[in-house]
Amino acid sequence: MYTAIGYAAQSATTPLAPMSFQRRSPRPDDVAIEILYCGVCHSDIHQARNEWGIAVYPLMPGHEIVGKVTAVGANVSKHKVGDLVGVGCMVDSCRHCEACAADLEQYCLEGPTMTYATPDRVDGSNTMGGYSDSIVVSEHFVVRIPEKLDLTSAAPILCAGITTYSPLKHYGVKAGDKVGILGMGGLGHMGIKFAKALGAEVTLFTRSASKAEEARHQGADHVVVSTDAAQMQAVAGHFDFLLDTIPVPHDLNPYLDTLRFDGVHILVGLIEPVDPALHAGKLVMSRRVLAGSLIGGIAETQEVLDFCAEHGITCDIEMLDIRQINEAYERMIKGDVKYRFVIDMASLKG
Ligand code: NDP
Ligand code: ZN
Repeated sequence: MYTAIGYAAQSATTPLAPMSFQRRSPRPDDVAIEILYCGVCHSDIHQARNEWGIAVYPLMPGHEIVGKVTAVGANVSKHKVGDLVGVGCMVDSCRHCEACAADLEQYCLEGPTMTYATPDRVDGSNTMGGYSDSIVVSEHFVVRIPEKLDLTSAAPILCAGITTYSPLKHYGVKAGDKVGILGMGGLGHMGIKFAKALGAEVTLFTRSASKAEEARHQGADHVVVSTDAAQMQAVAGHFDFLLDTIPVPHDLNPYLDTLRFDGVHILVGLIEPVDPALHAGKLVMSRRVLAGSLIGGIAETQEVLDFCAEHGITCDIEMLDIRQINEAYERMIKGDVKYRFVIDMASLKG
């Protein structure tokens, strides 16, 4: 064991504050990482404030981790000291169930061990995330950062990137498909870039007309202001695929109307009950599909990093001093970040 430092919430109503705690010494299959950068995901806010009702305190968020390997256990073969590596939302899983065997560790039938606020499978300790100077993770859950990628803007690929890439790939979105991205925050702006890279015609649905020009800069071909009923009506029956990153309950019905028959609406932002109620007829009468998607497996996380390097895709980031993390949360809630905060971990020692 050794003493690590980071920022954690002690309860749902207290701001994040510095905390010292114990990290384990590397086990034989572990990689120890000095964290250089960590992205700030809206899930961190949901969890720090217990908005999903599953928080465990103290809660140290952070699952978009980029850093340098400082030590490896005796059995590690994938990474070596000095390598630049990443850790996303998961740090372990059962590794033998049907989902794990299919490289879909995020759907582990025994439940994956998340990067924070989950009991470690070996010693039962509460996992602590990447708002920290270091982390120790089993090598299977550590990915390689391609040389071509800038380290700061690579960090959000570990969650915002993989979460938007995975459903686009799973549903076979291809050149010429009409894709709508709902909400342009951390996830949404990456969704636009990936859909565009796959050759789709991309539309952003946003509440804010002011985001129209920036959305086009991100690669969107069209923008629909979702609060304008006439604009929503104008795209009725139009889309093959919708990727919904909105982080709060919202009316799905007007969006379902914009799908063609056989169209697919994927939820990634919402895990609460749908409210207001869904009109099932909008699905039944046009064989539309409403489904969800959770991050992506480890192999696919490596794939998306390599895809970003190959296609020159980066996240738009704003560097953050960790001492400003609570203000950053307030700004994210207001939609005032373009489009991902990334913590410079040097500020933890500053
Ligand atoms: P952000 O806060 O960065 O962006 C969310 C965007 O949604 C905003 O920019 C805004 O876009 C839109 N939005 C926000 N509030 C509302 C509202 N009240 N009504 C309508 N639209 C709204 O969040 P992230 O991109 O980091 O995360 C999005 C969601 O995805 C979160 O709930 C997060 O927990 C979840 N998530 C899910 C994952 C999964 O595996 N399924 C993985 C990671 C995150 P605009 O201004 O353009 O309307
Ligand atoms: Zn996330």
